[in-house]
Amino acid sequence: MNDKNREFHELIEKCWHPGDVWWDGTQYLCEKCKQPVDENATNSDYAADPSLVLREMRTRDGYDNFLRYLQQSHWLEIDEFLDDYILDTTGKLRDKAIEFMREVIWHR
Ligand SMILES: [Zn+2]
Repeated sequence: MNDKNREFHELIEKCWHPGDVWWDGTQYLCEKCKQPVDENATNSDYAADPSLVLREMRTRDGYDNFLRYLQQSHWLEIDEFLDDYILDTTGKLRDKAIEFMREVIWHR
């Protein structure tokens, strides 16, 4: 489950924290992005809160395509959409977003 959260997080080009961190004498820095990190920081749980997935996706070009993709993969009624993707806490929306990003080329 956590791996899928990480996969989504990295597909939207964010650095997964905490990964490997190092102490520079005053603060912990991420090995990868060199940004200060809180060693107790937790990463987003995109399964527990699918609205995080939508918030990320809607900041990107291709959001309309993503919405069409969701509709096409399952002729959704609004109640099904809410049940399947918004109220679900097993990661269905996150997994659809991963599938979309892997299968559809982003046009930036
Ligand atoms: Zn980082």
